[in-house]
Amino acid sequence: MPEGHTVHRLARLHQDRYGGSPVEVTSPQGRFSAGASKVDGRTLCGAQAHGKHLFHVYGPDAVVHVHLGLYGAFREHPLPVARPQGQVRMRMVGPTHWTDLRGPAACELLTDDEVATLRGRLGPDPLRADADPDRAFSRISRSRTPLAALLLDQSVVAGAGNVYRAEVLFRHGVHPMLPGRDLPRERWDAMWADLVALMADGVRAGRIDTVRPEHTPEATGRPPRVDRHGGEVYVYRRAGLPCLVCGTPVASTRLAGRNLYWCPTCQPERA
Ligand SMILES: [Zn+2]
Repeated sequence: MPEGHTVHRLARLHQDRYGGSPVEVTSPQGRFSAGASKVDGRTLCGAQAHGKHLFHVYGPDAVVHVHLGLYGAFREHPLPVARPQGQVRMRMVGPTHWTDLRGPAACELLTDDEVATLRGRLGPDPLRADADPDRAFSRISRSRTPLAALLLDQSVVAGAGNVYRAEVLFRHGVHPMLPGRDLPRERWDAMWADLVALMADGVRAGRIDTVRPEHTPEATGRPPRVDRHGGEVYVYRRAGLPCLVCGTPVASTRLAGRNLYWCPTCQPERA
């Protein structure tokens, strides 16, 4: 599942490539034909993201909402267009490029009210200028749920996924099973500011790097990480390997169906 920075990168790309121009919108596979026909040929006013949700705004009550889910992906190419291959849910053709969307969890046309309802269910997104971290803290501070679960709950914080949650907990020395209500306000403020900075880096670089300069391969002489997710991280998918700060083997467990990673020394149960 892509994390929020990937969806924000798509929003920026689509804004650049297709914004301000009439866009040909079709559904070669047919499952989005009715929605596509309502916006086909209209000018894309803007593309934006909230958490893992992407919105293409063609005008009042004409918003294409996409959620990639586990398997969804856009593939983009320069013109000219080619024959659709496989199950293309939505094809967009702009002035210079075209892109095919396959396998999304959602691709639907929404009214402005429906967009507002959907966004109302989402927590603040660290990548949005209008995000209010107080809303997230009011949920966290009233909950006995472990922070590791709260950070993945899109109604608490929108956009952070498994990598950012593990890494931000590590960077702030917070045990993943700490109940939300035991997190001090100052610690949350620091974690939020960190998420804002880390995720903005992720949008720029297109990968997740969370390791401080003193722990990079360049600084320590260790070999760079080899992982299809890319990026230098402290604990994510490093179970059993030595912590980059203290050398303790990184621990892992399953929580709510997802793998969770932490350093038992740097993230003690009682801070
Ligand atoms: Zn450690």
